[in-house]
Amino acid sequence: AFSPSSPLRSSQVSSSLNVLSDNKATGTGSSGVWSPGSWKEFTPHQMPIYDDAEEVKVATDQIEKSSPLVFAGEVRELHTQLAKATQGQGFLLMGGDCAESFEQFNVDHVRDTFRVILQMALVMTFGGAIPIIKVGRMAGQFAKPRSEPNEEIDGVSLPSYRGDIVNSEEFTAEGRKNNPENMVKAYHQSTQTLNILRAFSTGGYADISRLHAWNLDFVDKTEEASRYRKLTTKVDEALRFMKAVGVDTGGPTFTKTEFFVAHECLLLPYEQALTRQDSTTGRWYGCSGHMLWVGERTRQPDGAHLEFVRGIGNPLGVKISDKCTPEELIGICDQMNPNNIPGRLTIIIRMGAEKLRKNLPGLIRAVQREGKSVLWISDPVHGNTYKTSNGFKTRNFEAIREELRAFFDVHDEMGSHPGGVHLEMTGEDVTECVGGIQEVSEEDLGRNYITACDPRLNGVQALQLAFLIAERMRA
Ligand code: PEP
Ligand code: MN
Repeated sequence: AFSPSSPLRSSQVSSSLNVLSDNKATGTGSSGVWSPGSWKEFTPHQMPIYDDAEEVKVATDQIEKSSPLVFAGEVRELHTQLAKATQGQGFLLMGGDCAESFEQFNVDHVRDTFRVILQMALVMTFGGAIPIIKVGRMAGQFAKPRSEPNEEIDGVSLPSYRGDIVNSEEFTAEGRKNNPENMVKAYHQSTQTLNILRAFSTGGYADISRLHAWNLDFVDKTEEASRYRKLTTKVDEALRFMKAVGVDTGGPTFTKTEFFVAHECLLLPYEQALTRQDSTTGRWYGCSGHMLWVGERTRQPDGAHLEFVRGIGNPLGVKISDKCTPEELIGICDQMNPNNIPGRLTIIIRMGAEKLRKNLPGLIRAVQREGKSVLWISDPVHGNTYKTSNGFKTRNFEAIREELRAFFDVHDEMGSHPGGVHLEMTGEDVTECVGGIQEVSEEDLGRNYITACDPRLNGVQALQLAFLIAERMRA
């Protein structure tokens, strides 16, 4: 995916603020004239308020003058693959941190998550015998929507943490101040992350014949590791066979991989600064990531986020909880994908197993009735978050598995394609979610709980889930 194609022009250099002088949107949804800044005419949910507009302008001007993070040709390639998945010929695997962090950034962290995603994809390719589209929640997953604007600790109330791209987790007035300069820092960290990912996906690290060398380090002794090893032995045998019959197994099909990046499209000043016009097609693209999704809290029909995304050519996602009615979902499809283009829109279902069994059939039925083209994927983690008595925000592996099971069951019943999975996970050996083969208990959570926001599956839990998904894909 990472082959630069058509060059991109910067969006209007003066567009950081007050871009709307000659391009007035109507404020009634999606009927006005779109521009990279037309979202400012709409209700900005979850948007940080900055003290100093001049500081925002300095930061966004700097990003506007900088290179796009992704290129239009790559974005179109992902779109093509998602279109195939929408028609049943592919499965989308998305995973990564809930929130990327400035402090925890390092090469190994990026590499470990990348490696586990490749391992999961391999397991799932064997299971489903369909292409797995690999997308990291990486290189831009910084901004977080919050259910409470403020956080109170010991009688002190301060603004909530909104991700490193906005403010800091540190519970001080200074830490929780919205800092426009953080957008520039997030941009630069994303360039590094992408550089690592581009190098690893094309530079030999992803060579299938090196499967055994992607050792599972800390998972060495687990059952998942031995299942994975058995599987890699099968892959090795298949490769030897292909080589014997004359297939070039040293060629790019076997040594390179395609890897894309995505994040929640939440902080619109940052997204706008990275919106660029493709010089070959004249289309606008959000060049902060290949795919962008709109969260459960910012998908209002008259909100700024749906206005922004409707004008960019990227594949889009939208998170859907049990609060969404079938009528609302059809409205969202009309706004985000008015021309009903396959691959344009991915519906990310996140509601917990029980509510999913109750609500998803109606949503699928409406989409089928209206003939909407969508890719259905499951986020089995966000509907399963709870707080333990010892104060940790966690998720239970069993509940996650149960939601996935429900997702596959409902699609089987409805005759629709279960098209992918969206996970909060890391390659590291964290203890943030309970359960799984290592039987992480609530008491264990304190051992290595380091997430900047929601609890993530660790490498073993993620791989275990991949085997479970693979089994369902085969069924
Ligand atoms: C997230 O993906 O981290 C998130 C906030 O999800 P949702 O919009 O589904 O709550
Ligand atoms: Mn999250």
